[in-house]
Amino acid sequence: MKRVLALAFLLATASIAAQDNKAWFGTPVPPAANDPRKPVMRYDNGYAPLAAHFTHAPGRFDELLDGAALKRDHKTIVGFSLESFAAGDKIWGRRAATPSFMHALDWTVRELKTAGLRDARVETFAVSGTMWVPRSWQVQLVGDAAFGPGTETVTLHSAFPQPGGATTPAGVTAPVVFVSRGTDADLAGRDVVGRIAIVHVRPEPSLFGSAEQGVAAKLAAKGAVGIVNAVEGPGNALYFDTRFACGKAPCFMVGGQDGWFIEQVIGKAAAAGVLDRLKMTLTLTSDEKSGLTSANAVATIPGQSAKRIIVNAHADGYFQGGDDNASGLAVLVGLARYFAKQPQPKHTLMFVASGGHHGPGNGPAALAAAHPELKDGTLIVINLEHVAYLDVVRGKVRAANNTGMSWETSVTESAKAVGVTNESPFLFDLWSRAPRCFGVATYQQPSTSVSGDLGGYRALNVPMTQMIQSGTFYHSSGDVYEQVPAEGLERAARFHAYLIQQIDRAAESLVTSGKGTPYQSTLAACSNYQPATDNSQP
Ligand SMILES: [Zn+2]
Ligand SMILES: [Zn+2]
Repeated sequence: MKRVLALAFLLATASIAAQDNKAWFGTPVPPAANDPRKPVMRYDNGYAPLAAHFTHAPGRFDELLDGAALKRDHKTIVGFSLESFAAGDKIWGRRAATPSFMHALDWTVRELKTAGLRDARVETFAVSGTMWVPRSWQVQLVGDAAFGPGTETVTLHSAFPQPGGATTPAGVTAPVVFVSRGTDADLAGRDVVGRIAIVHVRPEPSLFGSAEQGVAAKLAAKGAVGIVNAVEGPGNALYFDTRFACGKAPCFMVGGQDGWFIEQVIGKAAAAGVLDRLKMTLTLTSDEKSGLTSANAVATIPGQSAKRIIVNAHADGYFQGGDDNASGLAVLVGLARYFAKQPQPKHTLMFVASGGHHGPGNGPAALAAAHPELKDGTLIVINLEHVAYLDVVRGKVRAANNTGMSWETSVTESAKAVGVTNESPFLFDLWSRAPRCFGVATYQQPSTSVSGDLGGYRALNVPMTQMIQSGTFYHSSGDVYEQVPAEGLERAARFHAYLIQQIDRAAESLVTSGKGTPYQSTLAACSNYQPATDNSQP
């Protein structure tokens, strides 16, 4: 009896599977996009992030730099993005020059005033360019009985339009062509004219580092009528990045599960000899907004000298922007509160929550233009950007459907690239304390490269320094509140408190003298470091 039941069960299961599997060559249709209000990865039921341990002595009002305190501000900042989502903004987040971004700046000013920085203010600036705003869009694979009985048109829900994409209200329907990673070798012998090209994008380690940047624009120039960048990433996330735009055509990114489905179906259609019948429909309507105003939030702690140390964090970002850059802004606000309670610094500390570079205008460039006194009146610019992000890595279990190893969240943060533009040996020496004394994960080799928000400060022609990384969820809906550990924010905040204090106390020539300058370290060992307790400290 048992065997009969078991057999009946097996037959029933097999027949359901057979029914289900006929459409799209038996390829399971992709799920909805991940809810962008929630993390793509799991954070429950796992090991906690690496603890924050510090060997040096805590200073006065040290609790202002506690991870829990920073994380509360982090939540508030991410909240401005969620407000934009709830308002129905299509490109939502803290996009520069939008209400949610301005609310983040207003909040920053209020916090800094409460902390005692009385000159805290929003400085607006006119934006010369326009802002592209999509109104509606849809990306579909068109059903055809040639792909199996019951094959119906599938909508790819993670499809997200890329900046400047051409408006095609009636929709473009065209055959697809898979161009792999879009290198010249990949394109050899492939005709993209009149077709919708599918690019396989590998975010290694993020869209910022991806080799497929610019491929979409190249394909549009070669005559493709639409481009879909299929990102190899966890889940079915949303992505938005100017470097995957194509200008002359409607252009989209799709998340990992939608991308996998497209590529599977292309392969199976080719094997069945019906690839020429595989078509997609892209629909996109959009506007250009002009006459926009953006802003920076600015405040100072006056020093004994008017010469400034600028501490910058961009306040704008896409989606939740948990790491990019709610992390940097939370640390900036924490540091401003902390230094407001310390003895008067030698230099004037200028805190800037910038209009950044996600949207129209460039905050730091506008600040430098509006304040000519900064050109000769600044010692150094320190940038806080993407300071704490739990690393997402390929794990040890092979994923279903052979899409590679499973994606896993690490207990450690992604290693950050340290940049010192003038290669000051003193600054490099200070940065060597980040991993050694504060547990901050960095690359072993620093460099002169400072990507991100510092570009706008180049006009000041002063040394600039930062640590930065961009991970798997860079510029995606996976860059969420949960991805930023309190421990990582605390590591970043305490190291930067140390960095700023040491730079402030040092002879200016140590900061400004670059590569090759004779240098003998006099920095105390980690365990002997003491924050200033009065103005008599050297
Ligand atoms: Zn960014
Ligand atoms: Zn950023």
